[in-house]
Amino acid sequence: MLSIKNKHLTIIPRSEHTISRNSLSKTALKVLYRLNKNGYEAYLVGGSVRDLLLGKKPKDFDITTNATPEQIRKLFRNCRLVGRRFRLAHIIFNHEIIEVATFRGHNKKKQLIDKKLFLQTQNGMLLHDNIFGSIEEDAIRRDFTVNSLYYNIDDFTLRNYVNGLNDLKEGVIHLIGDPETRYREDPVRMLRAIRFACKLNMKISINTAEPIKRLAYLLNEIPSARLFEESLKLLQTGNGYFTYKMLKKYGLFQQLFPVAYVNFDKNTNSVIEKIINQVLKKIDDNLKNKNLVDPGFLFAVILWYPVYNYAEKIFKENKITFYDAFTQSITNILNKQYCSIAIPKRVTTTMRDIWFLQLHLLRYKNRRAKKIIEHLNFKYAFDLLKLRANVEHKTELRELILWWIKFQQINIIK
Ligand code: ATP
Ligand code: MG
Repeated sequence: MLSIKNKHLTIIPRSEHTISRNSLSKTALKVLYRLNKNGYEAYLVGGSVRDLLLGKKPKDFDITTNATPEQIRKLFRNCRLVGRRFRLAHIIFNHEIIEVATFRGHNKKKQLIDKKLFLQTQNGMLLHDNIFGSIEEDAIRRDFTVNSLYYNIDDFTLRNYVNGLNDLKEGVIHLIGDPETRYREDPVRMLRAIRFACKLNMKISINTAEPIKRLAYLLNEIPSARLFEESLKLLQTGNGYFTYKMLKKYGLFQQLFPVAYVNFDKNTNSVIEKIINQVLKKIDDNLKNKNLVDPGFLFAVILWYPVYNYAEKIFKENKITFYDAFTQSITNILNKQYCSIAIPKRVTTTMRDIWFLQLHLLRYKNRRAKKIIEHLNFKYAFDLLKLRANVEHKTELRELILWWIKFQQINIIK
């Protein structure tokens, strides 16, 4: 064994690992080499190293270096500095953005340097994480051991500081450091634990899993725009069904979708749970066949029953038309959902279309129907109608679907 070992670090030589430069994107290599040629340390790190070692295609290439963001900016004309909580450099190419982060330092050091830089909420969440440090410090500031492996462009070795290589072999997601402290620093790590376990088909270690249910409520502190991004990574990247089951088991789904969750029942037998199961399986299948699905469709399905049930309630209690009650209900449910996940306007526009089309699909007359099938979101609206028919087992809905299938066959859209 040629590996060099000290107390924390194992260095694996090129001959003993499977990462080859050919499997990196050209742009990632370019960035690594330019940093290196200018005298800085440069490593590929995070998901790309993990995925390459697992023989998977990385989603993106993250790089880490001892160059500060300002020094990085000087080396690349196409560089933009981003992020407040976590300052990073984005090197922008035509078809790819390479993220370059400077090694992070310890929180404790932060406290000594400047109180302002160590802003934390009462629950322990870090508001800034911008103290730079050494690679050793960086390795333990990362979330999971399997995400803390470094590929060195200087000599093509692999650096394993926190036993990530072993956990990768054993298929274990293991949070670095004291799990409760690390979740308090950044509660999104709870979601990431579930996401990686499902995506990589790995187990979450007992210590890493234990605090999650207890601390799930801390997601309240996370900006809802960040949770929108996270929810897409959780539910719309090909493992949504399995991930949703795990989120529910760990008490996290209810934090993300409280408005949907109040419609669930104890026996996990409610129509809303059935429709969520079905839509996630459908989206996973679509993604396997490389068919992208608009996030508006997923959110429209998850929130359909909350919208419909509340509309019925308002309709019964007030002397207004069902259409008006439905409109009010949509505003109410979207506002409530916004507190946990800030769904952007471009997505809510699609959701509203899909929902209003459910009402239009009920009133089919030939001339109107032609307009309806030409609607941009007809396909999604019809998919929602089919899902509803599957879970509600109502003859009227089944008949309606047959009518629309026939109508589409006669009026094939060119
Ligand atoms: P993906 O395949 O989704 O890109 P990834 O592991 O690369 O997975 P990123 O969100 O791209 O995830 O983050 C890159 C790396 O940055 C991670 O592998 C991890 O080392 C570190 N990281 C990201 N988010 C956190 C966090 N919240 N806390 C600590 N480290 C993090
Ligand atoms: Mg990544």
